Amino acid sequence: MESAPRVGVEGVSADDAAPYWKHLGVHELFVQQCGNCAKSRFPPMPGCPHCGSLDAEWIKVDDGGTIYSWVRVHRTTNPSFVAETPYVLVTVDLAPGCRIVGRLEGSEAPRMGQPVTLTFIDHAHTTELRFRPGSRTTNSPQEPDHND
Ligand SMILES: [Zn+2]
Repeated sequence: MESAPRVGVEGVSADDAAPYWKHLGVHELFVQQCGNCAKSRFPPMPGCPHCGSLDAEWIKVDDGGTIYSWVRVHRTTNPSFVAETPYVLVTVDLAPGCRIVGRLEGSEAPRMGQPVTLTFIDHAHTTELRFRPGSRTTNSPQEPDHND
């Protein structure tokens, strides 16, 4: 079986990251949450970087987040993105409390603290998490999960 190219979690073992990729493939973002201290983490890893516990569960991230930092990429190391340079990479503070890196859609310069929403781009062998400027248009920023 051909190995799928991965974007965004270099250096993470396939076993640790498998749930992340499975959910990303159906356009859902899940991160790990420690079963001991309840802090969230990304990228996927077997132990909690805060308390060392091996007890963890995967939680769904429904909302986007806010931009913590950003950089405009003019030269990429990923050959599949060469034709799309320049583009903006953002580090996003997610609602559960951890950070994640992804590409920001659009060409305008982002600003720190700017709200972003999740968007998912399907490639031939993988799904890429990206962000889109703006926030969900709801009255409540913390809606409960509606998993049936
Ligand atoms: Zn912990």
